[in-house]
Amino acid sequence: MTESPKKVKAGEKVGPGKYVCVDCGLEFAIGEADKDLRPCPSCACEMYNCFPMTHIRDDIKTPEDARDPPKR
Ligand SMILES: [Zn+2]
Repeated sequence: MTESPKKVKAGEKVGPGKYVCVDCGLEFAIGEADKDLRPCPSCACEMYNCFPMTHIRDDIKTPEDARDPPKR
């Protein structure tokens, strides 16, 4: 991971990727069907570091793939 993460705010339309709460560090994944970013369920913080799915691997399209990457 060489690129620094992009900061995004709750309420924005976001793409698939991994989101990490800047306040408490909670991580969760956003998939194709769920593009509304909500405030952190743990601390209600509205800022996240965004790691787009494309920065992880080209062939990973869903949060499920990110957890269990398909074999090449
Ligand atoms: Zn949080």
